[in-house]
Amino acid sequence: MSLQHTDLAVETLRPGDDGYDAAARTFFATGDPALVLRPRDPDEVAAALTHAVRHDLAVSVRSGGHSPLGHSSNTGGMVIDLARLDDVEVLDPGRRLVRVGGGATWGRVAAALDPHGWGLTAGDTTSVGVGGLTLGGGVGWMVRRHGLAIDSLVGARVVTADGALLTTSQDEHPDLFWALRGGGGNFGVVVDFDFVAQPVTTVHFGSVAYQLDNPADLLHRWRDEMRVAPDELSTTLVLMPRMPGSTPSAKVLLCYASEPGTAVADIDATIEPLHELGTVTEASISERRYSEILEDAQHPQGLRMVARNTLVPTLDDTVIAAIDRLHNAPVPMAIAVRSLGGAFGRVSPDATAFAHRDAEAMIICGTVLPDTATDAEVERALVPWRDVAAHGTGTYINFQSSATADDIAAAYPPATYARLAAVKRAYDPDNRLALNHNIEPAPAEQAEGPAA
Ligand SMILES: Cc1cc2nc3c(=O)[nH]c(=O)nc-3n(C[C@H](O)[C@H](O)[C@H](O)COP(=O)(O)OP(=O)(O)OC[C@H]3O[C@@H](n4cnc5c(N)ncnc54)[C@H](O)[C@@H]3O)c2cc1C
Repeated sequence: MSLQHTDLAVETLRPGDDGYDAAARTFFATGDPALVLRPRDPDEVAAALTHAVRHDLAVSVRSGGHSPLGHSSNTGGMVIDLARLDDVEVLDPGRRLVRVGGGATWGRVAAALDPHGWGLTAGDTTSVGVGGLTLGGGVGWMVRRHGLAIDSLVGARVVTADGALLTTSQDEHPDLFWALRGGGGNFGVVVDFDFVAQPVTTVHFGSVAYQLDNPADLLHRWRDEMRVAPDELSTTLVLMPRMPGSTPSAKVLLCYASEPGTAVADIDATIEPLHELGTVTEASISERRYSEILEDAQHPQGLRMVARNTLVPTLDDTVIAAIDRLHNAPVPMAIAVRSLGGAFGRVSPDATAFAHRDAEAMIICGTVLPDTATDAEVERALVPWRDVAAHGTGTYINFQSSATADDIAAAYPPATYARLAAVKRAYDPDNRLALNHNIEPAPAEQAEGPAA
């Protein structure tokens, strides 16, 4: 029997409807869902989830649609597209407290906060969603100054799989609030997030490009500079993929987010050493509004994106040597090394579900293969990566286009995982929200009851 789902009082697209094809697609994936729902408020989100449970439909939750695994579409199930829940509302100007809809994009948030002289450290891309990025952690241009996106989160309203709307914070359902900060989309549909924004108008932003004669030497010099850099400076060193016939190159992407009124000479003095790390081929750094540094991104059709990352406590010589070898791998890889520390590292590892606060750096590798590439071909291309990953003590789910048991174990150390599994048991015992880096509900005897 084919279900028509005609009892739904939520805007719905079905196969064949105008707009369905676009709604079935995400940044990296093309799905074939039975239904795409666009709820306008928490009641409609609850109606959508209740319907999915009643008809035993797989559920994808979509905010900006940039899941590295295409989790926000599916085949034969329901997509709950939160695009209509994209308001950015100031709740308390004195505290810079803002409520952001679970389907807003970071471009919209930056544009809405800019007139207030505020910003939120989050992703670097306008079209990335607040939902997915925040629930995974959220590494942005001011990570060393203000920590992860979740470190600015003070509350969230969540519709759980049974259709209940829960308000979460340090005081209300604190176990769920803890899990939402790094545990991904496992626990319910977040209809809105409450953040304390940061005072920021302009930042010094740009890049310095280098001829890449000696990757290990450049990595050492950059690491040493970042070890003494102030929290205001967040940088990423990118080794561009080695392509036949092109000169190897690298660049440091940087954002200096200072206190308003900091002397430009002081900022320049902090940035200047980055011009001395190697042979500079180009440099472009300017003072820009924070809302304008976020960029747009496209993913070419017909290619399979492969991304892996690892967090290393120390960027020592052996790690640097492994990165150097990876850069010479037969399949060209882009390698980005993000410097962490600062405010990111001052949060206790058990304060949120993102536990890897001791990391000095996050190493990310990315490549593209034809979209016909098999998993075995992906694994072959990644052999040189394993040598780097062996030095890591954690993984960030949002940059991991893989969700095996090993990936989940790398993302969540045993104590974190056990706590997440207990929260999952309490709020989604039947694992209705499973299209994600999935946490399985703990067996009943290990579960904690939901805290009021
Ligand atoms: C071009 C690009 C740039 C990026 N830049 C950054 C960056 O600078 N920093 C960074 O940290 N990450 C970055 N990422 C990674 C990004 O954080 C992840 O891809 C993230 O999953 C995207 O979130 P989304 O809402 O756009 O994706 P979606 O595909 O909509 O959501 C991803 C998953 O999150 C869950 N989810 C989303 N919204 C909700 C909600 N409201 N309630 C419950 N569950 C929800 C669902 O499980 C969903 O499958 C980038 C990714 C891309 C493709």
